[in-house]
Amino acid sequence: MSDCLFCKIVSGAIPSKKVYEDETSYAFSDIHPQAPTHVLLVPRKHIASLDHADAADTALLGELMATATKLAATLGLGKGYRVVINTGADGGQTVDHLHLHLLGGRAMSWPPG
Ligand code: 5GP
Ligand code: ZN
Repeated sequence: MSDCLFCKIVSGAIPSKKVYEDETSYAFSDIHPQAPTHVLLVPRKHIASLDHADAADTALLGELMATATKLAATLGLGKGYRVVINTGADGGQTVDHLHLHLLGGRAMSWPPG
């Protein structure tokens, strides 16, 4: 997707602070961090949102979850962390490329805003 911000970040066309990468995913620091650790984990494949993932993406979604837990450990979030996938307008999604927010380094409150 040539006009997608996160596709451009994955390809390196737009710079980012890389945290991790493998064959299926890329992780980078959020430009407006909401916690001491705020990483975005995105699939290299363009999927517009969680709502746009289909049955063929099931393994990819599982891999992203597993990668998020590995990243949390690597980043020292042993006290806990939060994984968020904002989806659609009411979900607060602002970038239309599926992404997991990995937030940690402070105690989170509930319910979210
Ligand atoms: P959403 O609101 O779609 O769940 O999350 C999008 C996230 O992308 C926001 O937390 C926002 O701060 C982050 N973001 C938007 N533009 C950029 C950018 O150019 N670089 C980085 N690193 N993060 C961005
Ligand atoms: Zn994209």
